Amino acid sequence: MNTASTSPRIAIIGSGIIGAALAYALAKRGASVTVVDEGVPANRATGGSFAWINAHRPEDAEYFALRLESMRLWQGLVAEIDGLPVRLGGALNWEGPERIEAVAKALDEGGNTARLVSRARIREMEPALAAPPEVAIDAPLEGVADPDRIAEALLIAAAALGAEMRAGVRVTGISEVNGRVTGVETSGGPVEAERVVVAAGRATPGILAGVGVRLPMKTPLGLLMRTTPVPRLSERIFTSDALHVWQMDDGRLILGEDFGGSDVGSEAERAEVEARVIGRAQTAFAGVPLMLDASTVTARPVPEDGYPAVGRVPGLDGLFVATMHSGVTLAPVMAREVASMVLDDADAGVLARYGVERFG
Ligand SMILES: Cc1cc2nc3c(=O)[nH]c(=O)nc-3n(C[C@H](O)[C@H](O)[C@H](O)COP(=O)(O)OP(=O)(O)OC[C@H]3O[C@@H](n4cnc5c(N)ncnc54)[C@H](O)[C@@H]3O)c2cc1C
Repeated sequence: MNTASTSPRIAIIGSGIIGAALAYALAKRGASVTVVDEGVPANRATGGSFAWINAHRPEDAEYFALRLESMRLWQGLVAEIDGLPVRLGGALNWEGPERIEAVAKALDEGGNTARLVSRARIREMEPALAAPPEVAIDAPLEGVADPDRIAEALLIAAAALGAEMRAGVRVTGISEVNGRVTGVETSGGPVEAERVVVAAGRATPGILAGVGVRLPMKTPLGLLMRTTPVPRLSERIFTSDALHVWQMDDGRLILGEDFGGSDVGSEAERAEVEARVIGRAQTAFAGVPLMLDASTVTARPVPEDGYPAVGRVPGLDGLFVATMHSGVTLAPVMAREVASMVLDDADAGVLARYGVERFG
């Protein structure tokens, strides 16, 4: 195990869920960590996320296994960090009814313990659902993280182990000498480090461009709505073609909707979408009046091919990257693997196929 006196100094750019989870994983191993963020934790994708922790792409077995492993690691983090705002209360999913049986089978065979449940069973499990579907996939290992609090909670746990957080400090460049990283330049002066990890979400391509590395990224928008608090309806998350919803600990419902990659449109169009989403939730939970409290539209950081961009950055020793969609699901496994690369000089291992070099 490395100790603070022998391990390199590490600077992490970004305190969203990826930077925060990595800071915790590194600090737990005794490393010297400084997290630099131009804002506050969760000011970007993490705070605007639907935050469903899931494994739902069985057609890509390796990627599916990675997500599944991360779900398991979330269980460990929940046990380890007191009050971590993560609830692994299970999910009920009835997207694409025509292929639901095949999906349930593939999920289960892949290790995401899932089974089909009938309407009668759903009524018993979820009495608040007014019109349950005929059949759904019950995925008991899945869950949610509170998007408002998760990054901060991980950073607090990291700080308790010695990690330093510098909020409100913008990184303006990576410093290097003879092809080796020496730290980062920031609006608050230089931060010296032998290893730098760029976990800046959708700002990552710009930072990497500064050292001549290409990371093409898509940034499709997603809408997240919060209702005012209502009495406890469920511990589960519900996802269907028409509905993405779960209830926060304080009683508010979180509702998610994407725009199919298109723009949000005018204010009137956005209001129309919001009314439609609330309307569907109201139909699902007919017993309680729902009122919109707040809504955000946030860009998702999605590397061009949809998969994470993570690992060593070629051409500059000591520079690493970790940016992706499904970062809420993937944060623990990414943190563990990147920490191992940074501290043990380990191979990319299960992350080998996700290196930025694939973009040429
Ligand atoms: C609407 C929506 C729904 C989603 N749903 C899910 C879901 O259900 N399940 C799931 O797993 N994932 C989901 N995601 C994806 C997930 O939220 C992201 O993958 C994840 O939050 C990315 O975290 P991050 O730490 O990489 O980036 P971010 O949270 O964006 O954090 C990046 C940080 O870097 C900082 N930064 C940027 N540039 C600089 C700089 N120059 N100097 C200093 N700091 C800088 C920013 O201030 C920010 O705090 C969703 C995302 C959205 C938007």
